[in-house]
Amino acid sequence: MLMLVGTAAFASPSKAEGPEKKPVKLGVATSGPETVKAAAKDENLPPMLTDKTNGLNPELLKRFDAFRTYMYQKHGVTLEINSGYRSTEKQAYLYRTMPRGMASAPGTSLHEKGEAIDYRPASPTYNQDLAKFGLKIPYPGVENWHVERTN
Ligand SMILES: [Zn+2]
Repeated sequence: MLMLVGTAAFASPSKAEGPEKKPVKLGVATSGPETVKAAAKDENLPPMLTDKTNGLNPELLKRFDAFRTYMYQKHGVTLEINSGYRSTEKQAYLYRTMPRGMASAPGTSLHEKGEAIDYRPASPTYNQDLAKFGLKIPYPGVENWHVERTN
């Protein structure tokens, strides 16, 4: 349910005021069954753009960025991308070297299309929050860190 979304400012008005107030730049998750405005950009949140974001679908990256900002401001969690786009060679290496079931066979992973993000720290309890940004954990309980677009 989305009943609590956007109510934080009303629940704790004293926290909404303060010296850290700055111009608000909103990001918006553009699709998904339930979309919400992303929290305002926060200068305390380390930037997400690293070498791990290279090759990722821009829409996936945009949604994850909005989710990440939301999680930082709502729950105080700093998420980082652990793995994004992978070449087929890299996927083949992981498939060979990781425990069975932990990496898809080369040629079958959405990571090879830039359509999947592995992030940390992950939790199955994030699934509802991910859904607000058009994201999902396709293998909950198995790979809680693996995120894809819902559409
Ligand atoms: Zn993954």
